[in-house]
Amino acid sequence: MSTPPPPSAPRTCEELLAAMIGFDTVNSILSGKPDAERPLALWLESFAQSKDLRTQRLPVDGQSFNLLVTAAEIPGRPWLLLEAHLDTVRVDDMTIAPFAATTRDGKVFGRGACDVKGPGAAMLWALLDLARQPDRANNAGVLFVCDEEATKRGAIAFARRHLPALPWRPAGIVVGEPTMLRPIVAHNGVVRLVVHTRGVAAHSSNPALGRSAISMMLRVADAIESRYIPALSASHALTGRAQCSLNTIHGGTQVNIIPERCTIELDRRVVPGEDGRAVIAEIDAVLNAVRRANPGLVVTREESLVDPALDPRGSAPLIDHVRRALRAQGLSDEPGGAPFGTDASTYAETADAGPGIPSLVLGPGDIAQAHTCDEWISLDQLRLAVDVYGRILGTPWEFAP
Ligand SMILES: [Zn+2]
Repeated sequence: MSTPPPPSAPRTCEELLAAMIGFDTVNSILSGKPDAERPLALWLESFAQSKDLRTQRLPVDGQSFNLLVTAAEIPGRPWLLLEAHLDTVRVDDMTIAPFAATTRDGKVFGRGACDVKGPGAAMLWALLDLARQPDRANNAGVLFVCDEEATKRGAIAFARRHLPALPWRPAGIVVGEPTMLRPIVAHNGVVRLVVHTRGVAAHSSNPALGRSAISMMLRVADAIESRYIPALSASHALTGRAQCSLNTIHGGTQVNIIPERCTIELDRRVVPGEDGRAVIAEIDAVLNAVRRANPGLVVTREESLVDPALDPRGSAPLIDHVRRALRAQGLSDEPGGAPFGTDASTYAETADAGPGIPSLVLGPGDIAQAHTCDEWISLDQLRLAVDVYGRILGTPWEFAP
C-alpha cells in the first residue's frame, strides 16, 4: 500500500473520496488479508481529529474496529447517525485501476466509489459542515463499520454491543448505499440453511449393504421444490414475493462407493413482516414430513445466515424526517424498496438490545455501478449527497425521543 496522504490533505469531498479509494479495503473474508479496513479507519480517525471531530474506536471480534465520528455534543438534543461500511468487494476482474481514483467525464472511478466510499465521504463532509454551525438542531455522527460485504460483523457488533454501551441512543440511522438519493425503506432479508443427509457407505458391487445419502437428498430436495416453494405466499408491496432456491449440492466421494454424505445449501429470501425464526420452523416441518414418509432417512440442518428484512413499520419517524429533508432540498421523497440487503435491517431489529432503531437506506450513486468492473460515481450525485445528508442532520427532529 502506498503511504497515506497527510490527514489534512482533502480540501473537498471529492478529494476525501479519492483518498479513501486509495486504500485497498477488499473484505478480509473475500481477500484472506486480515484487518483489511484498519489502515483506512486509522487514517479517517486522524483526519477527523484534525478537524476537531470526536472519534471512538468500537472493537469488533476478529476484525479491527468500527469508527464512530461525532460532532461535539449539545446536551439535550436528539442524536442522528449516518452509517457507511469501509470494506469493498474483490477487484480481480476490474478493467480500471481499482485504487487510483481517476476522475473523468464528471465521474470518479475506483473500487468502492459507489459502494460505498462515495456515500461515506459525503457523510463525513456533511458532518464537518454541521460541526461548524454553533447552534445545531441535532447531535450527529458518522459510523464507519467493517465487514458488510461478507458477514455484517461490524453492524452486528454495533447493534448488540456498542449501541447499548453508548451514553446516548440515536433517534434514527441512515445507512449509505447507492440509491440515487431515494429513500429505501424496505428490503428483503435472507435465511440460509445447510442441509445434510447421512447414509451408510458400501461397495457399489453390493449396494444393498449401504444406504445412499444422495438418494435421501433427492427426496428432501423434491419436498422443498415441489411442495414448500410453490406454496410460498408471503409478499410485500415494496419488495415483492418471498423466494427460495437450492443452490449448491455436494455428495459422494467415488463412483464405486455408495455415498455416505450429501449436503445442499438453501437460500430463502424473507420479506418485511416475515420472521426468520418462523421461516426456519416451516422448513423444519418439511424436513420432519420427509423423515416420517421415509423411515431410516437421516437429515439434519444448520443455519449459515439469518439476516432480517427491513420493515418500514419500525422506522416511521425517521422516514417522515428524511422525506421532509428531501422535499426541502427540492428532491423526490417517494419511498422505495430494494431487493438487496443492507446493515439497516440489523439496526432496525437489534433484537438483543431492546427495541430497534428506526433505520433506512439512502445514498448517492446507482446500485447498477456497484460491484462492477469499472465502478464509478458521478460527481453531481456526490456533491448533492453532501447537501442531502447535511439537510437530514440539520432539520429539527419533530418526534418524541
Ligand atoms: Zn455496500
